[in-house]
Amino acid sequence: MGTLELTTGRYRSLRLGAIADDLTDLLRQAEANEVSYLMFADMLAEHERASREARRIELNRRQARFPADKRLEAFDYRHQTTITKRQVKALLDFAFLDNRENLVFIGPPGVGKTHLAIGIGQHAVEAGYKVRFKNALDLVEELELAEMKGELKKKLTQLAKVDALVIDELGYLPMSRAARYALFQLINRFYEYRSLIVTTNKDFTQWGEFFHDDNVAVPIIDRIIHHSHLYMLGGESYRLKQKTLS
Ligand code: ADP
Ligand code: MG
Repeated sequence: MGTLELTTGRYRSLRLGAIADDLTDLLRQAEANEVSYLMFADMLAEHERASREARRIELNRRQARFPADKRLEAFDYRHQTTITKRQVKALLDFAFLDNRENLVFIGPPGVGKTHLAIGIGQHAVEAGYKVRFKNALDLVEELELAEMKGELKKKLTQLAKVDALVIDELGYLPMSRAARYALFQLINRFYEYRSLIVTTNKDFTQWGEFFHDDNVAVPIIDRIIHHSHLYMLGGESYRLKQKTLS
């Protein structure tokens, strides 16, 4: 016995919403293809699973807050020759995330550091990982604020829920002592536990000046570089190239 409506209701009350939504279609497909009972049972389960996964990925994509849509597929390796497609592709098995390793893109403005960080981040989200993108200044401001409210620990716990945190433009502007200390706490929290994807215009020999050679500079750099993949990008700014073309 049972009507379609009754059965749909049962699925819904069991919180199997995707099956409830698409039951008519699923039944039609099963009938059209004359699938076995076992096959049909599996179709239902798989439909619910796939729909939940798609929803989770969509949520993760929104929560990543990428500032722009930068696809790796749109990256031009003929312009940017200091990194190869093969090097970038090698990262897309996401072993670096599973192993809690960092990526560091170093180079002057306009050479594609942020584009690569976002592109890799987007692929990671599609592969089911959680990523969060933050500009370094915004991040440090947030950390300082949390520290003032006595909530730094809470903030770090919240940030460390992602598999990878993108810190964009680290080192562009000097930071206060409190900011450097807060950043150090973050780096420590992530070290061998979560991955960082850092873009910076400073190579590490210049980081000392940036951190004013105080006692957190060396440990910060040390922890970022240890277990990391460093990419030194060079060449002409892509922005300038576009300017001269137009
Ligand atoms: P950076 O972060 O190194 O300053 P961006 O990644 O922001 O540079 O790149 C500047 C602009 O040029 C962006 O719009 C980016 O998408 C584009 N761009 C940079 N390099 C490339 C490239 N090799 N192929 C395609 N677009 C690029
Ligand atoms: Mg950038």
